[in-house]
Amino acid sequence: MKKDRLKKLAGDKRFIPGIYNYCDRWCERCPQTSHCLNFSLSEEEFSDPETQDIQNEAFWKKLSGIFGETLELLKEAAKEWGVDLDTLDSTDDIEKMKAKGEAAENHLLCRAAKKYAEMVKDWVDEKETLFFETAAAARDGVDLDEAVEVIRWYQYFICAKITRAVRGKIDEEEERDDEFPSDSDGSAKIALIAMDRSIAAWAMIRHYDTYGAEAVVDIIAFLDGLRQAVEKTFPRARSFVRPGFESFDLNG
Ligand code: SF4
Repeated sequence: MKKDRLKKLAGDKRFIPGIYNYCDRWCERCPQTSHCLNFSLSEEEFSDPETQDIQNEAFWKKLSGIFGETLELLKEAAKEWGVDLDTLDSTDDIEKMKAKGEAAENHLLCRAAKKYAEMVKDWVDEKETLFFETAAAARDGVDLDEAVEVIRWYQYFICAKITRAVRGKIDEEEERDDEFPSDSDGSAKIALIAMDRSIAAWAMIRHYDTYGAEAVVDIIAFLDGLRQAVEKTFPRARSFVRPGFESFDLNG
């Protein structure tokens, strides 16, 4: 893709700026694909069958092409704003960033989120199949496979977003700017949404999985505890407005 084409797309009014920053990356289920530049780019670039294949060399070549063009655009923008990108990564900065990354990873919330992902893995390994439960649910018009799909989609996503929120909070404590909505609250919000949905999905499984009920209840209780702890740590997260999801005026 040419740089000018990328620039043109980025300025297209159809697209909601930053919509992909606080989404759950589940494009197949997203109600806002027509307003997402990210989605449009991947459709435009990777729509022919050959490039669909992630193993295909053409895929990585195209990706690296987009990366190169984006970097050039970024450099141009930085120049306009008077930012020298070459001076940003001094050894001191890198050490500081490393320390902050480690502090975030060791944070109680991040460790708990990692533990939750492990609990899901153990449950999946042990359960192997929900054949009888799925059949019983289907008789009630409930699709248990979808519940499992939701759980699996968010299994690691929750940890990634909580880590980003915690990391953002560490940065913001140094450079607090109340004028703008905080990125950490946005990340915490999508993590909370992922936990809400996962808990609802677990509740469906709990309803039909009578033999393994105890394990499922333990997981729900653990995840609910994590959810409450995130709400307490990020009290403004629930009211964070995600562009394109909670509200957005396309003309505004
Ligand atoms: S906003 Fe929707 S379409 Fe765009 S990246 Fe996120 S999930 Fe995918």
